[in-house]
Amino acid sequence: MNEKIDYKITLLGDSTVGKTSIFRKLFNFAFRDGVLSTVGVDSKTINFEDVEVNSNGNNEKKCFQITIYDTSGQERFRSIPRNYIRGSDGIILIYDITNKQSFENIKTWSDSISEIISNNNKDKYLVMLLGNKLDLANNSEDNDDKDNENNENKVCREVFTEEGEKICQKYNFDWGGECSAKDFTTQQFKDLIQNFAKRIYLTVDKSDNSRISVTKQNNLNKKKKICC
Ligand code: GDP
Repeated sequence: MNEKIDYKITLLGDSTVGKTSIFRKLFNFAFRDGVLSTVGVDSKTINFEDVEVNSNGNNEKKCFQITIYDTSGQERFRSIPRNYIRGSDGIILIYDITNKQSFENIKTWSDSISEIISNNNKDKYLVMLLGNKLDLANNSEDNDDKDNENNENKVCREVFTEEGEKICQKYNFDWGGECSAKDFTTQQFKDLIQNFAKRIYLTVDKSDNSRISVTKQNNLNKKKKICC
C-alpha cells in the first residue's frame, strides 16, 4: 500500500503571459511560437515519488500526485475560472516580465483569488508568483549593446526581478523566480512544481484527510506509465 498526497495546482494570469507554454513544457511538448489555443481548461497529472520533506525536524519521504490545470482558454473570454480556483491547493500566478500591465494586474488576480477561496480560508492554499519570458528580456547592462546579434529579437524588460520579490512580501506569495517557457527544460519546470508541492505540504492546513489517497503498489505503477 502506498500513500499519495493529491494536490490541485492551477495556472493563472493574464492572457498571453505564457500559461499554456509553461504547461506544455512541463509535460514535455515542444515550445511553439504564436497563439496557442486551449479549448476549455486543460489538465494533466504528474507524480513525484519519495520526495524528501523536512517536517518539524523529521525527514520524511512523501509521494505527491499533482494535477495541473491550465486555465488559458477561460481568461481569453474574460471569465475567471472560479471552480478551479476554489478547488486549488496551490495557485501559480504568472506575469510576463516584458509586459508591465500583466504585473500590475497581479493585484486584481490576488483579490479575485482571496474572494473566491473565501476570506477565512487563507491557510487552505498557497500562491506562487512566476515571471515568464526571461529569454526575451534585455537586462539593462545589455541595452547599449545594439549590435549584439543575440539581442536582435529582445525587448526591454518592463518588470525588474526585485519588483516580483517585493510584491510577494506584500501579498504573502511564494516567489517562484523568473523563467522562460521557451528556454527552460521540462526538468526545470518539474523541479519548480515539486518544490511547490513540498511548500504546500509544509504550509497548507492539513487538518482534513481529503488530500490523502491510498493506492495499491500495482495501481501506482500502472499510473506512473500514463503520467509523467
Ligand atoms: P497564455 O495565454 O498565458 O496561455 O500564453 P501562451 O502560452 O499562449 O503564450 C502566448 C504567446 O507568448 C505565444 O506566442 C507564446 O509562444 C509566447 N511565449 C510564451 N512563453 C514564452 C517565453 O517564455 N518566451 C517567449 N519568447 N515567448 C513565450
